[in-house]
Amino acid sequence: MVAMKVIGLLGGMSWESSAEYYRLVNERVRELRGGYHSARTVLYSVDFAEIEAMQADARWDEAGRELNRAARALEAAGADFVVLCTNTMHKVADRLTDGLGVPLLHLADTTAVAIKAAGIKRVGLLGTGFTMAQPFYRERLAAHGLDVLVPDEDDRETVHRVIYDELVHGVVTEESRERYREVIARLVEAGAEGVIYGCTEIELLVGPEDSTVPTFPTTRLHAEAAVDYALGKASLPPAV
Ligand code: GLU
Repeated sequence: MVAMKVIGLLGGMSWESSAEYYRLVNERVRELRGGYHSARTVLYSVDFAEIEAMQADARWDEAGRELNRAARALEAAGADFVVLCTNTMHKVADRLTDGLGVPLLHLADTTAVAIKAAGIKRVGLLGTGFTMAQPFYRERLAAHGLDVLVPDEDDRETVHRVIYDELVHGVVTEESRERYREVIARLVEAGAEGVIYGCTEIELLVGPEDSTVPTFPTTRLHAEAAVDYALGKASLPPAV
């Protein structure tokens, strides 16, 4: 049996989704190895208030430095690779990996591989305002050959507001679920053949049943890819 690599979870953005990562990596190891097996992990969890303030003030260099320090701490603690438990903060992925001796399992690459495996080319993207509006995530997906659709400005505002005002605080409401269903339906109407739940808290609110097309839940996909890599079942997804 191949020795299990240590998964370095860089989380706390928000901890609501990091808790899901922790559960999902352990469930995946149990599914694949059975018995008493569980995931070998180290977790570095930030204070999200500090990161959120940096996002709001566009202090991305500072955020990158902070996450680089956290990633180095994971490496020093024995992590064999780093899993950044947020889509948005992949904006500073290059800064995060600066001088790091272990690889980053990039969430956009993991997501793109799953979408392509499903035979889908045109995909809708839900996430924070940063993820939907800025190029860092969409362009990474596009480089994998995907056409990425984002909601219009009003819908982006709704999706972003629900994440920051509700989901990161663990608040899940039927009303917001209905708003998300409407946004998803409009993406499908605009031609999306699949929809990315591209914020790690979105799976707390909606699932496959809230969409008429296949969905790509990034927390689940990322956690599964982390375990598959840790167990030597898969290599790192190709970067672009
Ligand atoms: N977890 C979220 C994401 O996947 C948003 C919180 C954050 O800004 O990191 O983008």
